[in-house]
Amino acid sequence: MIVVLLGPPGCGKGTQGERLAAALGVPKISTGDVIRAAIKAETPLGLEARAYYDRGDLVPDPLILGIMREALAAPEQARGVILDGVVRTVPQAEGLAKVLEGLARPLDLVLLFEIADEELVKRLSGRTVCSACGTPATGRAPGELHAECKASPKGHFVRRKDDEPDAIRNRLEVYEQQTAPVIAWYRAHGDRLTAIDATGTMDVIEARVRRAAGIG
Ligand code: AMP
Repeated sequence: MIVVLLGPPGCGKGTQGERLAAALGVPKISTGDVIRAAIKAETPLGLEARAYYDRGDLVPDPLILGIMREALAAPEQARGVILDGVVRTVPQAEGLAKVLEGLARPLDLVLLFEIADEELVKRLSGRTVCSACGTPATGRAPGELHAECKASPKGHFVRRKDDEPDAIRNRLEVYEQQTAPVIAWYRAHGDRLTAIDATGTMDVIEARVRRAAGIG
């Protein structure tokens, strides 16, 4: 099963994507994670992506399409994959459609997470992530040790650069301008788009996600 998770920053698609991937027994690819790892390792992709990432701007489509093409061709995706954070522009939606056509694989579901802006700002400004394993958390102050971290040495909680207030505002604007048109694009290209309410507890949202994916 190939699933695209669509929704504004902070809507919870990363966390729910992990749960859905585990339930379906397929991997999850997060372009944001790929980019963060590339920035940390200072690879050519990371060096090119860094300035966009830090401002909360989208990384150019050709870089994203390269990541997507490589990831979808990997043998471990044969049973399916959850795509988290991609697609975010209409050219990316068109690019994904072409890649899947080339692989003769269908896109089964586009899951849209709907949530109000005020709730997103609250979530993103209260979020920290583990510096070593990337696990997101709320209510954990920057600098606090991530005692449950499985990496060695254990990480500590840090604020993501793109979760600073200016970058959050920019990311929400970028979503409205560049990603929201993707919703109309999918509506015009088949009926695989299903919207779910992304407010409530993790478990309540997970139940909605499972129903939408036909496994609940
Ligand atoms: P995320 O972790 O999904 O919130 O992504 C964090 C940042 O990575 C975004 O603000 C962009 O700078 C970059 N990024 C991730 N996925 C994409 C994408 N599909 N297209 C463009 N930029 C992306």
